[in-house]
Amino acid sequence: MNWNRVVQKMAGVVALALAASFPAGAQSPSAGAPGIPGNPPPMADTPAMAIAKEAHGWLADLIKINTTNPPGNEQIAAMYIAAVLEKEGIKAEILDLAPGRSAVVARLRSAAMAEPSKALLLVAHMDVVGVEKSKWTVDPFAAVEKDGYLYGRGAIDDKGMLAANLAAFIALKRGNPRLNRDVIFLATADEEQFGDASVKMLIAKYWDKFAAGFALNEGGQVVLRNGKVQYVAVQASEKVPVNVEVIARGKSGHASMPTKDNAVVHLAAAVAKIGNYSAPVHFTTIVRRYFEQLATIEDDETAKWMRSLDAADRGEHAQRVISDMNPLWNAMLRDTIAPTMLTAGVRANVIPGEARANLNIRLLPGDTIDVLLAELTKLVNDPQVRFEIQPDAGLAAPPSSLENDFYATITRVAGREFSNAPLLPFQSTVATDSAQLRLHNVQAYGFTPFPLTDEDFRRMHGDNERIPLASFTKGVDVLARVIAEFVVAR
Ligand SMILES: [Zn+2]
Repeated sequence: MNWNRVVQKMAGVVALALAASFPAGAQSPSAGAPGIPGNPPPMADTPAMAIAKEAHGWLADLIKINTTNPPGNEQIAAMYIAAVLEKEGIKAEILDLAPGRSAVVARLRSAAMAEPSKALLLVAHMDVVGVEKSKWTVDPFAAVEKDGYLYGRGAIDDKGMLAANLAAFIALKRGNPRLNRDVIFLATADEEQFGDASVKMLIAKYWDKFAAGFALNEGGQVVLRNGKVQYVAVQASEKVPVNVEVIARGKSGHASMPTKDNAVVHLAAAVAKIGNYSAPVHFTTIVRRYFEQLATIEDDETAKWMRSLDAADRGEHAQRVISDMNPLWNAMLRDTIAPTMLTAGVRANVIPGEARANLNIRLLPGDTIDVLLAELTKLVNDPQVRFEIQPDAGLAAPPSSLENDFYATITRVAGREFSNAPLLPFQSTVATDSAQLRLHNVQAYGFTPFPLTDEDFRRMHGDNERIPLASFTKGVDVLARVIAEFVVAR
């Protein structure tokens, strides 16, 4: 790295990079951090536990580097990470994507010749979503530590995971075991906007720098309730986002003489019908397995309906009951359609000739937009209304396998480390970088290893995002163990 250039361009980053040598977290153990009952503290610090204290400092520094997207400015975070890695004797490479926007990659080699199909990729994104600053009780970019929590935009999504990946990667380098495969660290840009600096662009420009057969990414969840880990969800698949415009046309004219072909009225009627429509349930292996596992910890009544979802006689009723209980469960069972935007009219006294609505659709993997639109066309049944698929649709990726060694390792280690909590494969309703990886034959899994309550989890993309420091430490330890069991040669 050219430090002169860095000094000239970004004096603040240098200070942060130097601070990385003495991370704040290393000097102030998190006194008063909320414990995670049900997971008794270990007798002694494992190497990963020890490095978690350093990782607190890296996480705090990364929060202080404002990577709100847009514009992202991930290059500054990439340089910080490269400096941390290089201090450990690990060569890091900055991969430029757009002005001020870069990814960073580093590799621990198992042999002189890389075998990409075996390699494990640790991936996390550096950009964060914006904040409504007035609604925060602390500065979202100051990494404030309070009552055992570290506050800041990105504390969970995704700088927590980024710092944990960094810690696990560095722990591996320090331990210097014989590896059975290459381990690659990758920090990506532009995940939140999926624009010109996204993982799609990164793959197009630099695939050979991080080609891998397996990957760990965000997207899962370790669910903490009443102080106990209830279950661990590992994301192995995701729904496909598609935007569709509904366009109603009519004759424009003076509002004093309304006619029946008013575009606004036709659009409103179409949107009302679509809003009340429920697409048919389609099961995937992952969703079947998810509900089977979840039934083992739900109350008797809920479990009964979960076990009946597929039953010939009362399956349909069970699907209705479960869908009504939780919008997430509803969205896991079927394609969903959310009308999100309406556009019509230019003047209060003019009937417009056209009115538009946007539908944000999330397809189950394997379902196609054409089939759904044929259904909606029949439902709306109005020659004045048509549909237009928008060009920003996500690509459908095959799910990751639930049968390989890596998934088995995640299941085994997570089960052991989280008091035998059940492990659920998860098909997320939101999109992550993993879809792009899966399209390149990577078996990618979303495993965010921090035990979090629903209340803390909901702060992602919301106000006062924070991570309990005890959960961060535990997560770093578990993540490092999962990785070590998969990559250390026996
Ligand atoms: Zn994220």
